[in-house]
Parts: sequence; structure tokens; C-alpha cells
Amino acid sequence: MQLDLTGKRALITAGAGGLGRRTAELFSNAGAKVFICDIDQDQLESARDKIPNLDGMVTDVSDRDALKTMFETGLDYLGGLDILVNNAGTAGPTGPVEGVDINDWMACIEINLTCTFLMTQMAVPHLREAGGGAIVNLSSAAGKFGFPMRSPYSAAKWGIVGFTRTVAMELGPDKIRCNCVQPGPVEGDRIDRVIKAKAAAANISENQMRSEMTSIASLKEFVTADDIASMILFLCSSAGKHITGQSISVDGGLEGLV
Ligand code: NAD
Repeated sequence: MQLDLTGKRALITAGAGGLGRRTAELFSNAGAKVFICDIDQDQLESARDKIPNLDGMVTDVSDRDALKTMFETGLDYLGGLDILVNNAGTAGPTGPVEGVDINDWMACIEINLTCTFLMTQMAVPHLREAGGGAIVNLSSAAGKFGFPMRSPYSAAKWGIVGFTRTVAMELGPDKIRCNCVQPGPVEGDRIDRVIKAKAAAANISENQMRSEMTSIASLKEFVTADDIASMILFLCSSAGKHITGQSISVDGGLEGLV
């Protein structure tokens, strides 16, 4: 099956690294014009150099004024909008709920959930003007299971599920689809950082934590950035034209989280 985005205009938050970067690459390969933002200038420049039909802007998505400026700049570059991928997310604090600092809670909710709301709100008139479009939000397996020691992140990612389903119902009549993807742990730097923090909190070795985390998936391994980006591409292409309001797990059959 050929997943084609020729002529489509896509904005991806935090698109210079990790899952966002891989999604930007697949979108560009599929023929889309892509605009990304990211907090990391070097990574952003590397994405600009290496990915055709892509521009971007350094932005901290937790800065609401900067987010608005970035959206307007992206829209100018793209000349309209067909696809929004709300990818930006941060792991938030690791520790028992009674020790979570309110500022860490707020920062985690801001980047994972409020940013998704604000970007969606700005995008809707332009998606409507395009005659319809697709929004994909990044939830997580932590938005499907409880996730001990990560209460802010889990709350934000469960929030994404409710937001996704509601937006899909509100905007379906305008042919705007909204889905979320729930990745399990993805091989790469991010999960290495999470393993390190969780191993320290549980007072066990990083290797032990890694094998505990993979043992709880039916396929006994982590997923890859390619798995997630391919699902996002599928949802945004015409192959996904009757899929909306869904929370789609790409997690190797996770049976819970440790
Ligand atoms: P990541 O930590 O690899 O970061 C991706 C990019 O986000 C980086 O380029 C980074 O510079 C940028 N970024 C970080 N803070 C930013 C900010 N404040 N403003 C703008 N850019 C910022 O993340 P990832 O693993 O690619 O995850 C992407 C999404 O997928 C997130 O929403 C995450 O919660 C979700 N997710 C990831 C995993 C996983 O294991 N990787 C699992 C489930 C869900």
C-alpha cells in the first residue's frame, strides 16, 4: 500500500528529534510540505538540512506567546494546513504522588496536554478552510494503564484520550479527523533516560529495569520510532479516511506498565 501525502501541508510539534523527526521524514518522503518546531536549535538545523520540503522554527512549546508566533510562521510557510501532529511531550517528574511538586505537575500538563489544546484551537479554522484534515495527538501507554511514579505524565496522556475523542465528535461534520497514538516504550534516548530515572527511584540496576519493562509486553521488546511514525502517516493519509476518535496502541501488546 502506498501512503501518499502529495500536496498536503503538515505541522509537527517537537519535530526535530525522536518520534517527531521520524514522522517528519516519512511525511516528506510521502510528498508533504512540513513545518516543525523544536527547542533544540542544532537538531532543528539538522532536520532542515536533511529533510526535503521542510522548514522549522526554534520554539519552546511551553511558552504560549512563542507557540502562537510559531503557528503563524508555520502557516505562512505552508500556505494552509491539512495535518497537525501534536507530538511535543515531556516525561515529567518521577516519584510518588505525595512528593510531586506543583510546578513540575503544571509543566508536565502544559507541554503534554495544554499545548495540544492550544495548537488544535489555532489549527481548526485552517483545517476547516482546507475542507477537512487530520489531527494526530501523541498519547502513550501511560494514557491506557496506570503508571506508578509518573502521575503527572499519566494524567496528561489520559487527558489526551478524552480530548481526542471529544474533538473528533465536534469536528467530524467538518471532515476533520482526530486520533491519538499510544506508543509503548520506544527504543532510543528518551526511554534510556526514563529507565535511568525509574531504576534510580526503584533502587535497581538499569538492566534490571529494562528487562522488567520489556517482560510486560506480549512481544517482549520495545517498539521503534518507525513503528509509531508509520502509524501516524497511515492515520493522516487517505488510508485512514474513516478512522476518527480512536486511541491506537502501538506497543508490542503491553499488558501494563512498571
Ligand atoms: P523526545 O524526548 O525524544 O523529544 C522529542 C523532541 O522534543 C526533541 O527534539 C526535543 O528537543 C523536543 N522538545 C523537548 N522539549 C521541548 C519543548 N519544551 N518545546 C519544543 N520542543 C521540545 O520525545 P519522543 O520520545 O520523541 O516523544 C514524542 C511524543 O511521544 C511525546 O509526546 C511522548 O510523550 C510520546 N511518547 C513517547 C514514548 C517513547 O518511549 N519515546 C512512549 C510513549 C509516548
